[in-house]
Amino acid sequence: MQIHSGGKGLSDGKMTESRFYIIGAGTAGLTAVRYIKKHAPKAYVGIFEAAAHPGGRCRSFYDAKLQCRVDNALHAILKANREALKIRGKGDFVYPAVFYDLKNRKLCRGIFQNYREIALALFNLPLEQTASEILRRSVCELFPFWNARKALFSDNKQSEYFINPQLIYADDITYGKVLKDIEGSGRATKLVFCKDALKLGKGDKVICAMDNFNTARIFGDMPLKHNPIINIHYRTSTPLTLPGGRQVIGVKGGLAQWVAVNGDIVSVIISDAGKYLNDDELAFKVWREVCRIRGTAAAFLPPYRMMKYRRATLCHDAETNARRPGDCRTVFENVFLAGDWTMKNLPCSIEAAALSGKRAAKAALSDK
Ligand SMILES: Cc1cc2nc3c(=O)[nH]c(=O)nc-3n(C[C@H](O)[C@H](O)[C@H](O)COP(=O)(O)OP(=O)(O)OC[C@H]3O[C@@H](n4cnc5c(N)ncnc54)[C@H](O)[C@@H]3O)c2cc1C
Repeated sequence: MQIHSGGKGLSDGKMTESRFYIIGAGTAGLTAVRYIKKHAPKAYVGIFEAAAHPGGRCRSFYDAKLQCRVDNALHAILKANREALKIRGKGDFVYPAVFYDLKNRKLCRGIFQNYREIALALFNLPLEQTASEILRRSVCELFPFWNARKALFSDNKQSEYFINPQLIYADDITYGKVLKDIEGSGRATKLVFCKDALKLGKGDKVICAMDNFNTARIFGDMPLKHNPIINIHYRTSTPLTLPGGRQVIGVKGGLAQWVAVNGDIVSVIISDAGKYLNDDELAFKVWREVCRIRGTAAAFLPPYRMMKYRRATLCHDAETNARRPGDCRTVFENVFLAGDWTMKNLPCSIEAAALSGKRAAKAALSDK
């Protein structure tokens, strides 16, 4: 095992105040980087990321099969998501409570007409099963202001909106670096990776901004229960439109829950998708629904990319919510937790991830 003492921040001869190591380059980790750099510009901030790219569950990439750039999944943020908007900046908000009722073949508008479908999108779980604390907090934050209910959808530029603007703050980022263990007692003294290790200095701080499954493995905890989401992108031969020229439409009574068009890419989201995870006919069935919504015949299936996320979000039921951590502290004084799952009472989302990154960065900055 190769052990590095100190970090790249010292070896390049920079004057540094203290060193912060961020594990995981998802929205939570990158928000922590931005926050630390904003408040301690001279501090060295390095990221270790297991994958070969940044972004985690929220990113875009070039898809060789579809021959275009796509998001890993259609994402929406609400006007109420202030932390997410600080990263994303301005955009064209749309009112998302317009649904196509497949059974009655007509549009159905309004929050109160479609509240079950909206809740499923927000919580990735039917309303009745969602923890009451999560419901209460979401209702308080979303419903007092009309504008807060408007949404901004990703248009296959997720990395440009959420990842790249924060990545620039990091002093270093190492990809393919998988954290396996943290050693020490009281304070963490060593980060153990797959192939090597990093000895931590006295004032060094670590923010673990990994997903719950991987964090639990490192800290020896039982992982929390998760819920899947499926995303399908279809690439059509010509740009398509949805009823009323909408960019996004909700679906009532179908397999699909949201359909979005962006030029010649049609993206479909299926929440709480556990029962479909092995269904290869899904792409066919969902495409037929898209065609019914558009009032056209499903003559043939265009090329598509289906992405199934078994652990897309936590299962937001009461039992799982109760097991989420109350704050970002860990058994190590100098190690802090971030990640959407760490924000008890909030649904796992870009907003929760950004808030968690900010909270962990604040705590790390105040650790002397
Ligand atoms: C299909 C889908 C649809 C979604 N739709 C929406 C939506 O519409 N609106 C919304 O707000 N949110 C949505 N979300 C949720 C949102 O994407 C997540 O809440 C957010 O991206 C989580 O960010 P994070 O930084 O907490 O975690 P992640 O993005 O999971 O980042 C964790 C990072 O840690 C890295 N990592 C893990 N283990 C290790 C290790 N051992 N060593 C080093 N690095 C490690 C991972 O590779 C990853 O890059 C959706 C998610 C999915 C999957």
